[in-house]
Amino acid sequence: MNIILLGPPGAGKGTQAGRLVEKRDMIQLSTGDMLRAAKTSGTEMGKKVAEVMDRGELVTDEIVIGLIREQLEGDKKGGFIFDGFPRTLAQADALAALLEDCGETLDAVIEMQVNDEVLVDRIVNRAKEAVAAGGTARADDNEESLKVRLMAYYKQTSPLIGYYHAKGNLTAIDGLASMEEVEASISAILG
Ligand code: AMP
Repeated sequence: MNIILLGPPGAGKGTQAGRLVEKRDMIQLSTGDMLRAAKTSGTEMGKKVAEVMDRGELVTDEIVIGLIREQLEGDKKGGFIFDGFPRTLAQADALAALLEDCGETLDAVIEMQVNDEVLVDRIVNRAKEAVAAGGTARADDNEESLKVRLMAYYKQTSPLIGYYHAKGNLTAIDGLASMEEVEASISAILG
């Protein structure tokens, strides 16, 4: 089973993907995590994307599609959870083609609905918690980048809601419910 978790920054996609990895032996494919790893490893690609990411803008379709393509070639275990990908219509089309090429299907797209005020609070708190735990906050977890990330979501990613609705595999859930409730809603969709 392959699924997409769709929602704005701070909606809880990563948290829920983590639960699915544990419970269903699925593979989390987070382009954000892959790009952050590339950033810290200092590769050419990492250097190229660092500034764009820190500003909160989207990196090119070509880069993220390339990252996903590589991952689809490996072991598929309980299936893939696409977390933070696709974020544009071009990425969604590319994903459909990639899945078809490897004989896979897209089984569900789960839209995690949350409102903007909660997102800002969650992200500002996420940054504070990271610092309190002795780590460093994500370079893009600040109010300025967050505004850009939200705008990128509404302009470039939210059209995917209509796209997947038209394809017939979109289900919206309340992302503001507790972590356990959100987990239960996702579980009910996946069966
Ligand atoms: P995330 O961890 O999903 O919030 O992603 C962090 C940042 O990585 C985003 O703000 C973008 O700059 C970049 N990014 C992650 N996934 C994508 C994607 N699918 N397309 C373009 N940029 C992405």
